[in-house]
Amino acid sequence: MKCQICNDKRALIKRSKTLVKVCKDCFYWAFEEEIHQTILDCKMFQKGQKVGIAASGGKDSTVLIHVISTLNDRYNYGIELFLVSIDEGIQGYRDDSLDTVKKNQEDYGIPLSVFSYKDLYGWSMDEIVKQVGLKNNCMLANSYSAPNLYLALIVASFLRS
Ligand SMILES: [Zn+2]
Repeated sequence: MKCQICNDKRALIKRSKTLVKVCKDCFYWAFEEEIHQTILDCKMFQKGQKVGIAASGGKDSTVLIHVISTLNDRYNYGIELFLVSIDEGIQGYRDDSLDTVKKNQEDYGIPLSVFSYKDLYGWSMDEIVKQVGLKNNCMLANSYSAPNLYLALIVASFLRS
């Protein structure tokens, strides 16, 4: 079955939104163009703005970085992108995903700032778990929500500077 958009390449996916069968290239194009249209409809960006992308190293933020960076180049939004990551200090989890964020930084040439619990609060999540045990960890993780508001303010002031 051929792609119903380009009528050339083999269709690989039937979009649930439109029920149209599309090839890989046409799917990517449609995906990016719909995001671009939403950005325009919402008047999301203004030229010269600094825009921070919260990057976890997971697939969602990696796709977000790719799409915003691609559209900024394609449509000349004129925004300055930053990557912002939080390092909770969980060995074997966050350090691995931070490697992915660092790769995103290199791949897209976007500056990265990492804010760590250790630097901000003096404790990493691993140190907290050592002290209180895994059982009480969630309660403490929740109590970090208030400090996270401060963290958001720090990030916001960083982006304004
Ligand atoms: Zn196609």
